[in-house]
Amino acid sequence: MEFYRGIILNPIENFNIEYFQDGLMAVDKGKIQFCGEYKIGLKNFQKAKEITRTKQLIIPGLIDLHTHLPQFPAIGKGEGELLPWLNNYIFPLEEKFNNPIFARKVSKRFFKKLKENGTTTAVIFSNSSFESTDIIFQEAKKSGVRVFIGNSLMDINAPHNLIYSIKTNISNMNKLIEKWHFRDDGRLNFIVSPRYAGSCSTELMKEAAKITKQNDLFIQTHLAENQDEIKFIRSTHSFKGSYTELLFDCGIINSKSLLAHCIYLNEKELDIIKQNNASIVHCPTSNRYLQSGIMPFKKYQNKNLKIGLGTDIAGGYNLSILQESKEAIENSKYYRLYLDKTSQILTKQEAFWISTLGNAKILKMDNIIGSLSVGKEADFILFNPEFNNIKEFKNTDEILSELIYSDSFKIKNVAVRGKMIYKS
Ligand SMILES: [Zn+2]
Repeated sequence: MEFYRGIILNPIENFNIEYFQDGLMAVDKGKIQFCGEYKIGLKNFQKAKEITRTKQLIIPGLIDLHTHLPQFPAIGKGEGELLPWLNNYIFPLEEKFNNPIFARKVSKRFFKKLKENGTTTAVIFSNSSFESTDIIFQEAKKSGVRVFIGNSLMDINAPHNLIYSIKTNISNMNKLIEKWHFRDDGRLNFIVSPRYAGSCSTELMKEAAKITKQNDLFIQTHLAENQDEIKFIRSTHSFKGSYTELLFDCGIINSKSLLAHCIYLNEKELDIIKQNNASIVHCPTSNRYLQSGIMPFKKYQNKNLKIGLGTDIAGGYNLSILQESKEAIENSKYYRLYLDKTSQILTKQEAFWISTLGNAKILKMDNIIGSLSVGKEADFILFNPEFNNIKEFKNTDEILSELIYSDSFKIKNVAVRGKMIYKS
């Protein structure tokens, strides 16, 4: 059994965070056996007396619900809004990602950086090819990180090197499901990934939805990210209702759907998402970088919609979901400042909760990960305090200020299933 002593932050139900100034976590065979006050833990685990390292902060592993691995080299590059940025910078890079040597190099760097940032679970768009997606899976397997990976489905409106017929797209998915889905006891997973309605025919989206249902998979796509994108969808598909209704009619909106962005939705669209128990994935850094808009986080939250967080590399430039949680807070202030004076601001507790247990709930994995509760698999991060000194914090809010806003804690170790996958 392994023991870890230090300050512990543990998300529990309803956006609450348990906080132990002198906490103990016990891990055995990759699972959490105890998480609570050191003094109480010591009664059951005398061996915990031998711990020498006590000046540290312990939190659950972070979960990123939306990112694009092939776009990793494009962070901070390119300009303009979504559609010209995709055409001028991203599609050429995703074509380059068809080269297996390049794909492997980028994948290795990506997973290394992901671990450095404390992400233990990531939901990833690949480019459109089977081979490159297969390489990402191979590198994910080696990295120790939990993943959901899918080939970006595209059959229209993209360079010919990136689009495939519906038949090939389906065959690629089936091969990836067969080879990788639920491997390593569910650490490696396939996710159906129609890129967005601008690059998918309705037939392809319907086929994607069918495969999702047949195999009980998650499905991810982009929705209402940018106003020009919405116009483009209208010119690509002839449909009467809303963008959300188009996806709903194709079978894409369900309880295992991850819908990235969702900035421009009317009440009817929000109702469809809610009634079908689908999830919205907020990517605030990307939304600002690509000048897409500001998602009304609190308005959606007050409607009891499920909202998670994603980094959306390379529209986003943070690989850290903690940084992204800070951006979500700041974005909610901008929304209040510029768009709706009555809107509330996201709290640090909420942002931290969403980055861990909230995102785990969206992946229906909160019985396995997302917090440090007894019985869960031990995905966690150990932070060293700056200057090798740790002070008394009055409450959770005070420590979250240091964790999210200042550089007071450095990631020292990252573990998945109790096994260290990163050491600084
Ligand atoms: Zn995206």
